[in-house]
Amino acid sequence: MTDDTYHDTAPDRLKRVRHEIVAAAEAVKRSPADIELIAVSKTFDADAVRPVLAAGQRVFGENRVQEAERKWPELKREFADVELHLIGPLQSNKAKDAVALFDVIHTIDREKIARAVAEEISRQGRALKLFVQVNTGEEPQKAGVPPSEAKAFVDFCRSDLKLPIVGLMCIPPVDEEPAVHFAFLAKLAKEGGLKSLSMGMSSDFETAIAFGATHVRVGSAIFGGR
Ligand SMILES: *Cc1c(COP(=O)(O)O)cnc(C)c1O
Repeated sequence: MTDDTYHDTAPDRLKRVRHEIVAAAEAVKRSPADIELIAVSKTFDADAVRPVLAAGQRVFGENRVQEAERKWPELKREFADVELHLIGPLQSNKAKDAVALFDVIHTIDREKIARAVAEEISRQGRALKLFVQVNTGEEPQKAGVPPSEAKAFVDFCRSDLKLPIVGLMCIPPVDEEPAVHFAFLAKLAKEGGLKSLSMGMSSDFETAIAFGATHVRVGSAIFGGR
């Protein structure tokens, strides 16, 4: 066997991603401890996720509420200290379920969702952390608040709804240089007085770390292709 890439496992790849995060942080004199790795397990079933849990990973991301509800209640019973992040779009009729299952929601991007989540947080007495998604590429088909409205929307969420907004999240356009979008998101967060930045995926998390990412969302580099 000369080529290990055909035989490596999700725990092997997790270890490699962790090393790459440390190296990327140290290259820009940041502390690796300030960067949270969110292992994105969407489309992979509980049996595929279990070895990654067994390897010590506790922070996971899912992009659909219903899919997460099928696998995570069971996994959370086995691994009580899991932290679950919703990284996909949220519909207001799913706010109740999302607030019940997830610890962090990255995709607050309009008043209706902000209000629905605020109501469920107070009704359920849950302590979540929230990110506002910004459509940095101003793509018509993509979720997120337009950059020009980000500050006002964050202020509204924090002041009017008392929502625990901790940072901003973006998904750069596929055909553009991600660094430009990461730098832009970092600037918007700074202007809004927000410390956390959810940016960077399998193909660009090292670049995102160079631009200040505090949360990287890595799926295929850990779990394999989808
Ligand atoms: C799927 C997904 C990721 C992970 O993507 P990979 O390229 O597999 O690392 C990150 N963020 C969001 C919002 C996603 O939907």
